[in-house]
Formats: sequence, C-alpha cells, structure tokens
Amino acid sequence: MNPHSGRCDLLLSGGSVVTVDDGRRVYDRGAVAVTGDRIVAVGEEEELAGWQANRSIDTTGMAVLPGFVDTHQHLFQYLMRGLGEGMELWPWLSGFIWPFADAISGPDAVAGAKLGAVEAAHSGVTAILDHHYAPTDGAATLGVAAGIEEVGLRGAVARGMMGDATDIARRHNLAGEIFRYSAAEELAITRECIDARPPGTQVEIWPAPVNIIYVAQDLMRAAVELAHETGTGWHTHCSEVATDPVYYLDEYGIRPADWLYDQGLLGNGATLAHGIFFDDREVERVGRTGTGVAYCPISHQYMGLGVMRLRDLRRAGAKVGLGLDGGSGHRLDMLSCMKQAVLLQRVHAQETTITNGEEAIELATREGAEYLGTEAGYLAPGRLADMAVVRLGGVHHSPLHRVVAAVVYSASPADVAYTIVGGRVILEDGHCTLVDEEAILQDARRRSEELVRRAGFEHLRKPWRSDLLPQA
Ligand SMILES: [Zn+2]
Repeated sequence: MNPHSGRCDLLLSGGSVVTVDDGRRVYDRGAVAVTGDRIVAVGEEEELAGWQANRSIDTTGMAVLPGFVDTHQHLFQYLMRGLGEGMELWPWLSGFIWPFADAISGPDAVAGAKLGAVEAAHSGVTAILDHHYAPTDGAATLGVAAGIEEVGLRGAVARGMMGDATDIARRHNLAGEIFRYSAAEELAITRECIDARPPGTQVEIWPAPVNIIYVAQDLMRAAVELAHETGTGWHTHCSEVATDPVYYLDEYGIRPADWLYDQGLLGNGATLAHGIFFDDREVERVGRTGTGVAYCPISHQYMGLGVMRLRDLRRAGAKVGLGLDGGSGHRLDMLSCMKQAVLLQRVHAQETTITNGEEAIELATREGAEYLGTEAGYLAPGRLADMAVVRLGGVHHSPLHRVVAAVVYSASPADVAYTIVGGRVILEDGHCTLVDEEAILQDARRRSEELVRRAGFEHLRKPWRSDLLPQA
C-alpha cells in the first residue's frame, strides 16, 4: 500500500504524534491514518496529505499517543470510593474489602465496572486488565466483561479465584465468606467463562488466583495450566506487602516468585501485580522469563507498601506496565499514574535520573500492551488503532516546550479530547460515545448507597475521621 495516499476511515492530523515506535519517533505536526481497526500510515502531516478520510479530526494543539493500558484494576471497588481510610493492607482486606466483596451483588459489580470503564475512557485508557474477584459466578464475571466492552475498551477480566481456605489465610484472619468455591468449582467456572470469551475476544477472560500468598499452591498450578491450555494470560497479586514473602517462607520454605519459577509458571502469559518485595534472585528470574509486572505507584503510596524495583526489573527483562489498582487509587487517572510512577522512584532513590517522563509513557503504552498481549501499544502501520488524544493548550501546559513533559506532568483527564479503540472513537467532547454516561453514573450511585448500608459501612462515611488522626 502506498503510505502517502489512499482512502481511510479516520485521519487525525495536525497534532504532535508521539509514536513510541521502535525509533521512538515524534512528529511535531503529524498525522495518523486508520482503516478498520488498524493504523495504515503514520508520519508528518504533509506526508499524509494525500489521504482521503471518511472522518478527519483536526488535532492541532494536541498530543496523539498510543492508548494507555491499565494493567491492574479491580473496577468493582470504585463503588466504595473514598472509604476505608488509614488501614494496613491485610486489615484493609479482611475488615473492609472482603465484607464489601461479600455484600456486593452481580449487578452491582457490573455497575461498578461500567463506572470504572467510563472513567478509564476519560483518562485515555484503551485497554484494561480487571482483576475481578467479587462476585465471581459466571454471570457476574461475564457481565463485567460485557460492561467494559460496552463502553468500548478492550482487555481482560482476570477472574479472581480463592478456592479452599488455606492455613496461611486462617492464621492471618483472611479466611471467610470470600473462600466461597472449592478449587474444582473455581476452575470449572473459569473455564466456562473462557469458553464464552476466548482469546481474541475484545474483552477476554483469564484465570487469576487472587493472591499467591493465601491461595493454595495446587490451585495456582491448575490455574496456570488452564491458561496454557486455553491460550490466555493469567494474573495474580505477588509480594505486595513486606510480610508477604515472610509468611510464604514460613509456610512453604520458599519465596513466592522462586516457587513460581521452580514450578515453571513464570513467563508465557504470567502477569504479577506489584512485585515490590522480590529479592535479587527473584528479580533476575522474573526478568529472565519476561514475566509481566504491574507497577501501581499510587496504590503503593496510598497503602504505604513500598517501592517496586523498576530499574532492576526492567534491566532484567520484565515487562512492566502501570496499574491503578481499584479503590486504593481512588481515581482512575492514568495521567497522574504516569507522573507518580516517576516521582515515587525518584524520591525513593533520591536521584532524578532513575526514571523520566519518556519511560512513564513507555510503561503506560507499549510495555502495557505487551504485558496484556495486544497488538497495540505504539503507533505504526499494522498496529491496532488504540489512541489517546490529549489537549495541550491549557494554561497549565503553557508555554509548551516539551510535549512528553506536558503529558506526564501537566495533563489531567479533563484534557483528554478523544479516546480511540480499534479505530472507533469511544470518547469525544468530554463524553463516552457508546453508552449513556449519566445513566451509568446514576445507577452506580444508587447501588453504592444501598451497598454501603448492606455491608454495614455507614460509620465509615463520617465526614471527619478524628479517630484516624495521628496523636500529636
Ligand atoms: Zn490489586
């Protein structure tokens, strides 16, 4: 195909095109041509001047980027936005998230997923990995996937599995209603969901034991076997809090990522959330196998967890994406996630050269797409046409000397002008185009009110929590 002219479905021209391609090309006044769900040409505006498009969008004064990938989410948790302040991770799980997970219904979870997906589209997210673990019957799991797809996003619903309660969960007060299904039931439900939405579906289903630390090793192994057999990726939380590897060592005499490695479970579709507390050998093994790791800087700060070894993991070969991690992020905002990804590394290393805005964009786009296994992630002919278009004409971007800095450090979701998934514009003029945003908001608000009551969380809504203030 002649790259300089032809007929296409969609042409974006005039904006600064940040391709994140192999040469990391940036076109100051660039253009992107799209036919069907793929990019057919990318270059300077004048190079693409010969293209006739069914729809042309003038992106002058904007940045055109590959769509952002959120590699670790729990969308249902947005129904509890703002609650659960000031708790340590495991008590936060056992005393807040799990009672809530027990009270939430399937239709509630779907409403939360739609709310989150709408917010994702507003922040330029085009693909999402939703680690969904409440409730996880087939109808709710598939309903969440359908809700995400309805808004127009692509990605995977990683179906959370708990199986039978383990000793380690019992000892740390984590055993309860959330261990609802036997391991065999978990696997059977997950398999049915994968059959309904197999690899290649816009929103796939993946097996996802909730956390390697408190899910039984047999179920971990079986979940990964199911992923390999059906050709999906798989997902779990791994070494998120300092006590995780300690408890695991106590219980099994081995560190969690070492166990995954010894069992041959790393690489090949493996994606781990957090990975903050890997020792040197685990970093090397996770990297050498090309395992995916989700870096969730806002959640890591909010929960006071620690700092992921970004430099070491990337140097070792891990695919590192960015994630917002549900309720512990409060806002589904990939722009502030990129900024925090840089700032957290810098303050921890006490060193500004540890990372930069360019790397944050790489993590949010091409690395995330690789982690998720989609053919998007950078702007080049043949790639999926997933894009975020960000306005850079505001007072907070001016004067505009560097587009990358403006996107990472100055932009907010309010600046996102268009979100495009597979060539389809799913957000423009500040609204999602495929769904009734207002109806989704109303439904989520109404369900959340009832859910707070049902879960017994009215007391958490106290307007000023003096009980949480540190004593002077
Ligand atoms: Zn999480």
